[in-house]
This record gives sequence, C-alpha cells and structure tokens, in this order.
Amino acid sequence: MQNTIKHTRKISSRIFNPYVEVDDIKLNPYTLSFGKDLESDFLKKYYQDSLWQVRSALILVTFLYGIFGLLDTLAVKEIQQAFFVIRFGFVIPFLATVFILSFFSFFQKLWQGLLLVAFLVAGLGITAMLVLTPENYVYYGGMMLVFFAGYFFIKLRFFYAAIAGWLTLIFYNLGAFLFSDVPSELIINNNFFYIAANIIGMIASYRIEYFTRRDFFQKNQLDITTAQIEEANKTLEQKVRARTEELLEAKERAEQSDKLKSAFLANMSHEIRTPMNGILGFAQLLRQSDDPEEQRDFLDIIDENGQHLLSLINDIIDLSKIEIGMLRLNPSEFGINELFDEVYDVFCNEDKIRDKRLKLTLRKELKNGEDIIFADRTRLKQIIMNLVGNAIKFTHEGFVELGYSVLDDELLFFVQDTGIGVEREKQAVIFDRFMQVTVNHHPTHHGSGLGLAISKAFVNLMGGEIWVDSTPGEGSVFYFTLPFQKGSKSEYKSNMEGDNEMEYNWQDKVILIAEDVTTNYLLIKTALKKTGVTTVWVKNGQEAVDIFKERDDIDLVLMDLRMPVKDGYAATREIRKQYPDLPVIAQTSYALVEDRQLSIDAGCSDYIAKPFNLEELLRKIASFL
Ligand code: ADP
Repeated sequence: MQNTIKHTRKISSRIFNPYVEVDDIKLNPYTLSFGKDLESDFLKKYYQDSLWQVRSALILVTFLYGIFGLLDTLAVKEIQQAFFVIRFGFVIPFLATVFILSFFSFFQKLWQGLLLVAFLVAGLGITAMLVLTPENYVYYGGMMLVFFAGYFFIKLRFFYAAIAGWLTLIFYNLGAFLFSDVPSELIINNNFFYIAANIIGMIASYRIEYFTRRDFFQKNQLDITTAQIEEANKTLEQKVRARTEELLEAKERAEQSDKLKSAFLANMSHEIRTPMNGILGFAQLLRQSDDPEEQRDFLDIIDENGQHLLSLINDIIDLSKIEIGMLRLNPSEFGINELFDEVYDVFCNEDKIRDKRLKLTLRKELKNGEDIIFADRTRLKQIIMNLVGNAIKFTHEGFVELGYSVLDDELLFFVQDTGIGVEREKQAVIFDRFMQVTVNHHPTHHGSGLGLAISKAFVNLMGGEIWVDSTPGEGSVFYFTLPFQKGSKSEYKSNMEGDNEMEYNWQDKVILIAEDVTTNYLLIKTALKKTGVTTVWVKNGQEAVDIFKERDDIDLVLMDLRMPVKDGYAATREIRKQYPDLPVIAQTSYALVEDRQLSIDAGCSDYIAKPFNLEELLRKIASFL
C-alpha cells in the first residue's frame, strides 16, 4: 500500500509537480492526505493557522457582496427586487452565519464543508444574476472573483475548492441553458473563461497546499530529528560523565595500588634483608669461632633465619599465583585431628611459647577415624599454621587455643588468643593484599603482611569464608569455614607413620643422584652418609640415562627435574622404558607445585620438594627400599 502511494506519487509528481523533487514525503497525490497520524496533526495546525484568514475573508466577501449590490441599479427594476433577495436574503446571511459559527469549537470539524457550501452559495448567487441579466458584463467579472475567493482566499483546501468550482460551473450551464435565452455562443465563450479559471485555480491551490504540507512535513521531521539529537546528546553527556567518573576512579585505584606496591616492595626488601643479614653475619662468625657450643648456636640462628626466608619466598610465590589466578588445589583424604596434632606439636615446642608462658590448647570435636575429610591438606595446614603463628606473635600473656567444630555440612575452624587484638577499622583490611604496610607500623611486629591475604585466597578457593572477631586489648578469634567433604577411612593412610627418627641401614643399596647443582648433591650425599648407601652422581638427564648402560645395580633414583641437556621428565620417561619398576623420586623447587603431577605423569614414583627436610627425604627413600 505504502509502496503504491509512493509509486503513484512519483508518477503524479511528474504530472503535477515536474520541477520540484521532494522525496520521502509520504502522501496521497490526489487528495494530498498524509495518512493516519500526521494527517490529523496537519489538519489541526492548518485550521489554527487559517482561522484568522477565514474570518477576514468572510467579512471582506460579505462586504464586497453588499457593495457590489450598487451595480444592481443597472439592472431592470423587477429583477432588482430578485437580486436584493438573493444578496441579502441568501448569500450574505449564509456568509455571516459561517462567520459566527467560526467562533465555536465544533467549527473545526465542519469548516471545510461550510466553506464549500459558502463557495457554492456565492457561486449560485452570481450565477443567478448572470443568467437573469446576461447583458450585464460586470457580473462575468463577479463570477471570476467568486472563483478567486473560493480557490485562494477563504482557505478551502484544494480538494473541496475543486468540487465547489466545478459544481458552480455546472450550475451556471444548467441555469444558462434551461432558464434563460442567453445565446449559446456566449455561453460557450463564458465556459472558456470559467473552465480556464477552474483549471488554474485547481492547479494553483494544489501547489499551495502541497507546499504547505511539505513545510509541515519537513518541520515535523526536523522536530523529530532535533528531539533525537537532544536525546542522544543527553545520553552522550551522561555517558561521558559516567565514563569520566569511572576513569577517575580507575586512576585513583591505579595510583593507590602503585603506592601500595612501592610500599610493599620496600617492606619486602626489609623483610628479606633482615634474615639475610642474620644468615650471612652468623656464617662469618661461624668461620671465626672455635667453640663448638657457640658454633651450634650460630647454626641454629642460621637455620632459623633460613626457614624464615624460605617461608617468605613461599608466600611471595603463592601471592603471585593468586594474582595471576594460577592457584590450584591438590585435595586428598586425611584426618583433621592428625593435622591439628602436627600443628600443635610444632608450636608447643616453640621458644616463644615458653618465653611468654603462653598456654597452647587444642580442641578437636570429632573422634579419630571419624575425622577423615577430602581437602587440600598442605594448604589447610598452611592456613592454620599462619593463624596460630600470628596469634602467638601478637599475644604476650594468656592463652592461644586452636581447634575446629562441625556445623551441619560445614567445618568451622578457629584460632583464639588473648593478645593485642585488631582495631575495628583494621579488621576490614587485614585480609587485603599489601595492606599490612599501610596499617601496621608497629615497630616490634615484623611481617610481610601476606599471610592473611594468602589464607583468605586459599579459604575462598576451597569454598569457605574467613573472618575475625576481635576486641583491641582483649584478644581475637580468627574463624574460617570449609565445606565438610567426608573421606573414606579405607583409602586413608596415616601421615604420622614413620614420624619418629629412624636408623636406616642401606649398605647393600645404590642410589643414583641426578643433580646439576653441586651443593645440592653434597647435601644429599652427606644426609645419606650415615645409612651406608652407595651414591652415584650424574649431572644431567642424558648422563642419568647413559649410566644405565654401564651398570644395572641401581636401586633408586633421586631425579632433579630441571637439568641441562636433558631434563628430569625426559630422562625418567626413557629410564622407565627399560626399568618399569625402578623407584624414581623427583625433586624440584617448591615454587612449582604443579610439577608433582607432571613428574608423576612422566613416570616418577614419588616427589619431594626442595628445600627438603632431610628426615622426610630419608623416610621417602625408605618407603621404596
Ligand atoms: P603479618 O603477620 O606478616 O604482618 P598477616 O597477613 O598474617 O601478615 O597479618 C596482617 C596483620 O593483621 C598483622 O600485621 C596484624 O596487624 C594483624 N593480625 C593478624 N593476626 C593477629 C592477631 N592474632 N592479633 C592481632 N593482630 C593480628
């Protein structure tokens, strides 16, 4: 439908409107109607804009009709009477009535119809005069004036004006032929003028209305576009404002994080230098000392500082894994009670506990055997060790209690102390990364400020929550939850087995040590010395593979994973082809916990992380020999 209108409009615009090409105005080319919505808006506006002109036109036309009555004196006496009646009895009262009605609101609905009738009435009036006195040429001019007023003045729309114009012409012809003796050549002459006037009037009023409508349409489009632009502008402004705010926030965050990172690095440097200083300083003193007792003390200090440094490095590695989202869990089945016993034993014998006379207590809710769970044992132990370590560090008298209880399908772990407590505003940030440096300036409390952030990341990864409940000056309770995933008793093997220091005798055994770093080899060799075992040293993976071509008496391999020429994974894979049952224990740095899985995949029998506890190393070897 729409297309037809457009199409017909194009054709018609070629006929009616050959020079002005206004595309995209959708209107009916015959009635000039826009169609639904826009049409009623247009008619309303056209009415409002026309009203003053309609009224002035009616006054003027009425006035002229009256004035031109003077011309009637030229007519014959009897006819003068009839003309008076036509003028003042019909035409003028009708025009006056239309004028009065124009002050009522319903006029808007009727006005085009009424004006059409007014055109006809005026036309009929002048037709009557023409038919009755065909010799009076002035009336022919009067007829032209009626066409003029009807088409251009009284604001009749083109369609209605055309109807009234042609009807007037028909009335004239009917009157002239039927009711008078006007000579037919005169009637034909007159028709020539009136048909011409009608055609000119029609085309001109069509064009006038077309342009009025085009103006209206374009203004309407303009209004819509302006509104859209304004709207878009508004949204754009809002977006710009929101974006600016976001950018400012991001900038602040970046600056804040930059500051925190610089402060973190400064603090880290301090944290690393302090134990380093202890290690290097006491190593020098050790060289100068002759007193065995003093030497042992120095070694203890070096060992303690080394352990401290190691745990700091582990924390930094954990933290960087958290940062890049590479933290992975390694769940297994184990008993929680045993884990707590282990932690308890570690701290129970600590000098700090003894020096401060702190009471360390342990609360376990489940019975041994009922306490098997499926979780990441290493990480859980790390969290509890961290919380207990903090509790002891920040408590000067009273007690520290650690333990757990069962809440439906959750385990609630807690570490309570009677220490200095955590201030309220600090409670919110102590679990954040890098925050320690900004909140903790206590000169006596050293710390990387990483422990709680790492603990929180672990707890969250395991599906739990961590929080603190604390009153400054009275003490704190650190809580965390974990989902209670029960493990089966049958698959579980106690970790405590073989915990006591053992005497090993491996005089008839041969161990191959694949290790590129001399110090590490020496450390292992010395640790194994008392067992009487024979050690064979190779410095890379290729050598490890080749040695099997020379000897077949090797009972176990300690395989470093990172070595030149050929790494431990490749070497193990090759050795495995020939000796599928030979125990191969992989050894690598703690930094890469994932190496455990990779080494097992490569065919290693077990895995030990560096730096290793020498007792654990012996225990692992013993389990295969
Ligand atoms: P670090 O102990 O190395 O400073 P943590 O992340 O373990 O780092 O702890 C962050 C901060 O939280 C500590 O510096 C300390 O201010 C506070 N805090 C942690 N545990 C306790 C506690 N048991 N009592 C009082 N304050 C504590």
